[in-house]
Amino acid sequence: METATNAKIYDAVVVGGGAAGVGVAVALRHAGIENFIVLERHTVGASFASWPAETRFITPSFPSNSIGMLDLNSIAIGVSPAFSLEVEHPTGQEYAAFLRGVAELFELPIQEKIDVKRITKVGDDFRVDTADDTLRTRHVIWAAGEFQYPHLNRFVGSELCRHTATIASYEELDGDDFIIVGGYESGVDAAYHLSYCDKRVRLFDKGCPWKDESSDPSVALSTYSQERMRVDWFKEHVELFPQTPITSVAHADNMYEAKTQDGRRFQSRVPPLMAGGFAGSHKLVADLFERRDDGFPLLSEHDESTSVPGVFLCGPAVRHANHVFCFIYKYRQRFAVVAKAIATSLGLPADELENYRQWGMYLDDLSCCGEECAVC
Ligand SMILES: Cc1cc2nc3c(=O)[nH]c(=O)nc-3n(C[C@H](O)[C@H](O)[C@H](O)COP(=O)(O)OP(=O)(O)OC[C@H]3O[C@@H](n4cnc5c(N)ncnc54)[C@H](O)[C@@H]3O)c2cc1C
Repeated sequence: METATNAKIYDAVVVGGGAAGVGVAVALRHAGIENFIVLERHTVGASFASWPAETRFITPSFPSNSIGMLDLNSIAIGVSPAFSLEVEHPTGQEYAAFLRGVAELFELPIQEKIDVKRITKVGDDFRVDTADDTLRTRHVIWAAGEFQYPHLNRFVGSELCRHTATIASYEELDGDDFIIVGGYESGVDAAYHLSYCDKRVRLFDKGCPWKDESSDPSVALSTYSQERMRVDWFKEHVELFPQTPITSVAHADNMYEAKTQDGRRFQSRVPPLMAGGFAGSHKLVADLFERRDDGFPLLSEHDESTSVPGVFLCGPAVRHANHVFCFIYKYRQRFAVVAKAIATSLGLPADELENYRQWGMYLDDLSCCGEECAVC
């Protein structure tokens, strides 16, 4: 890696080698940008590799590339997890292997085991401080994801709970009786696997994601999870508590006790599982972005910071108006937009990116039907 000491300046530094970092790096290549680097604190696809062993993609993969439709879980034109992995709903470990394959195929300049600590604007460039080094770049793409930054402090005693992001395998969890806080995708996934092992599960949610009528899977439960909730073992072992926020958890006499907003108390011998989502890595670079009312970074139409030009955001934290880009098939739509903006700033024509349009990918703007659309 070239460092600030020898004064090399990269055209772009991508932080994170997950689905977003690898995908946008391919788009940078297609934009004709060569002088860039991807910095990954662990190994490519590390977040996926540490999903619970049983957890699978809810979005299906199908090899549809031959008729110009990207596999729903693909991150680059010409590749397909369905084709490479021969599975419809990959596990995290399988998808991590797919990402490593894409990185190799496109010969992406990825440096692993580099933990980015801080990014600072200095004059027209950026200083990127890693655990061991400092380097300089003209543009930064923040793609450090959410999985490694879970929401932990949601209520009194939440530190006593175990976040689902820290579970290696549901099958190997001790205990017969589980309380799960949060009933969206991760909570239903945990309940499904635990109930399959004949464990009793009580699933709490502050709303009722199981009955939301939105057609947007960023808001309502996916069809994959809805199907899982209809299997016999789920119906037999899982009790649902809609509109029931947990307000505190305590531990005494070898029992965990969760208290609900309406004053009820529920006990279990094992720590309640927290399926309450992710704070997200964008908190690490909060000083580089203005914030929207919902706390997410405010972005220009090119996904660039509105307060510090040259910093871009890629991945599930991208928001535009009421659009939530939290799935791969959503946020990959923004890769070419970011790559084109950086290429333009560097004076490169980025002609190859025009191909992205044929694949239904955005290039100049949101290209969406807008807030009036019932589906959006
Ligand atoms: C259980 C679960 C199931 C899901 N199922 C689906 C699904 O079916 N379909 C779908 O589309 N999406 C799904 N998602 C969401 C999907 O996983 C995320 O959208 C995806 O992981 C985001 O990719 P990413 O590259 O932004 O983040 P990540 O995959 O987390 O990648 C970020 C990378 O950045 C690295 N990193 C973090 N901080 C630093 C740092 N400071 N310095 C250097 N490197 C750093 C990490 O090691 C990591 O490799 C699911 C998520 C979860 C948790």
